[in-house]
Amino acid sequence: MKVKEVMDDLSRRFPNEPEYLQAVEEVLSSIEDVYNEYPAFEKYNLIERLCIPDRIFTFRVSWVDDSGRVRTNMAYRVQHNNAIGPYKGGIRFHSSVNLSILKFLAFEQTFKNSLTTLAMGGAKGGSDFSPRGKSDMEIMRFCQAYIAELWRHIGAETDVPAGDIGVGGREVGYMFGYYKKMAREFTGTFTGKGLDFGGSLVRPEATGYGNCYFLLNMLATKGIDIKGKRVAISGSGNVATYTAKKLMQLGAVVVSMSDSDGSIYAPDGLTQEQFDFIFDLKNIYRGRIREVVDEYPQIQYFPGSRPWKHVKCDIAMPSATQNEIDGDDARALLAQGVIAVSEGANMPSTPEAVKEFVDAKILYAPGKAANAGGVATSGLEMAQNSQKLSWTAEEVDERLRRIMADIHAQCVKFGDEGNGYVNYVKGANVAGFMKVARAMMSQGIV
Ligand code: NDP
Repeated sequence: MKVKEVMDDLSRRFPNEPEYLQAVEEVLSSIEDVYNEYPAFEKYNLIERLCIPDRIFTFRVSWVDDSGRVRTNMAYRVQHNNAIGPYKGGIRFHSSVNLSILKFLAFEQTFKNSLTTLAMGGAKGGSDFSPRGKSDMEIMRFCQAYIAELWRHIGAETDVPAGDIGVGGREVGYMFGYYKKMAREFTGTFTGKGLDFGGSLVRPEATGYGNCYFLLNMLATKGIDIKGKRVAISGSGNVATYTAKKLMQLGAVVVSMSDSDGSIYAPDGLTQEQFDFIFDLKNIYRGRIREVVDEYPQIQYFPGSRPWKHVKCDIAMPSATQNEIDGDDARALLAQGVIAVSEGANMPSTPEAVKEFVDAKILYAPGKAANAGGVATSGLEMAQNSQKLSWTAEEVDERLRRIMADIHAQCVKFGDEGNGYVNYVKGANVAGFMKVARAMMSQGIV
């Protein structure tokens, strides 16, 4: 396999899918050497079969808004690969959603799910429907219309969706409810469900907490204590808020958060009261991050701006969206001495930013390793649903910690360059790839 040849071919076939091509190139570049050690992979054209999704459902969703207007959105489900388990991956509702973004997310998900050590294939779905400003009833009608089309293609042993940007517990509840009605079964077809109907304790917290656990593992390799470290976070949704919560419990200083309108900077770190305010603002009132400044004028607000160039920090944990740290942002972070970047979001760093972090040899964890705690805990939710049992919060949290430590160990095993530097990008990609590749080889050409 020659990465350039594969990329030239994929670029010709999918010219309008920059995020998908970006994600594929990042993985192929780091697995090229390992892949070429196994001639059988090439004979079975593993690379093409692994890069192109198994199947994609594309459909129109029509729904009626509160004023009686009929609205239409595009919707998708990308079933990327089920070599190691049923398709598994979140659903994203955001105005920016298109096939390129969902193909990149489903591709990444395949390797991430492999890293978790659990039996889950990779998928992703979503719609360009924007939940922003929509009433509860509008959200419900949209979720029902989306599932009216999708329900035939998903199932507890087939494809298990969950949340992502714009899809939290409320949306999963509406989708699960409609799925249950259409399929006439009560099974663990969704994860991220409410606790009263099969959800797992610690699932809402898992991506953010898991990222903190991964960070702790990285810091431990250098003997660095997290206490007192200044951490810049982007986003203020599920992943960002639970990252901040755990960091504060660990004694770190959270200096920033953001949303798509702008970012806040707390030079002395957020107090517990300020964090609680933000948590309620985002989770209960669905407000905007700029409203924090009305309540706490000592916090600064930067409209239309990401945190990275405004904040003084030791650690960055991007937790909003893809490509939110570009080369300039990365250089700005490195110039002020950032020691670690641990990605809560999927592919938040552009290729140029990744190169900066890797060349600088800081502790840099790509999302597919650092944010895998979310899907891992979804896997634990599936296990509980199959057993018709619920585990305690302590039990789930302990398993999450062990899984993150195990993912970290796999990254070290395949990414240790022998000179004291661990290339976590290479480690995560090679470890994730090898398991899927072996499974595909064993199952023949399907
Ligand atoms: P949420 O919808 O809960 O929060 C997303 C946050 O990011 C919001 O603050 C949102 O701001 C902001 N954001 C979204 N899009 C943009 C954009 N284009 N530019 C700037 N800010 C933006 O989503 P999650 O917290 O669940 O997801 C965040 C990231 O983590 C995503 O990359 C997701 O794929 C990834 N992830 C999530 C997992 C999970 O378990 N939820 C698991 C693994 C990864 P606003 O409110 O203005 O839209």
